[in-house]
Amino acid sequence: MSQTPCIFCKIVAGEIPARKVFEDEDVLVFHDIHPQASMHLLMIPKRHVENLYDADETHSAVLGKMMTIAGKIAHEQGSPDGFRLVVNNGRVGRQEVYHLHLHLLGGTEPLGSGMNRH
Ligand code: AMP
Ligand code: ZN
Repeated sequence: MSQTPCIFCKIVAGEIPARKVFEDEDVLVFHDIHPQASMHLLMIPKRHVENLYDADETHSAVLGKMMTIAGKIAHEQGSPDGFRLVVNNGRVGRQEVYHLHLHLLGGTEPLGSGMNRH
């Protein structure tokens, strides 16, 4: 683990609470604590990696899984007509938590049109 303590690793370990909506051996999905849309979930690989600069071929399967389960989770969580996936990567991307995560943003009304930070 390259960042200690990592808040998302603590959520994976059950050391701090989260409103989980999906979990398997590789991936955890939970509600963002400060939602920016009526549906705002975070999808994380359980195995710590800071961000996409540190991702390599050993992360390909889990990253692919996150993309492929996003639609089903969005349907189940009240966002059947579309959603947005956002990765804030590094300082310039205004990443705050250095454990790679996808923001899954949606709801029933169109999101803001900006391409900047969620
Ligand atoms: P960023 O690193 O900028 O992509 O964003 C980190 C996100 O993590 C923010 O949207 C925070 O609201 C969210 N966050 C931080 N701590 C927690 C937590 N304990 N549980 C759920 N979401 C969190
Ligand atoms: Zn971590």
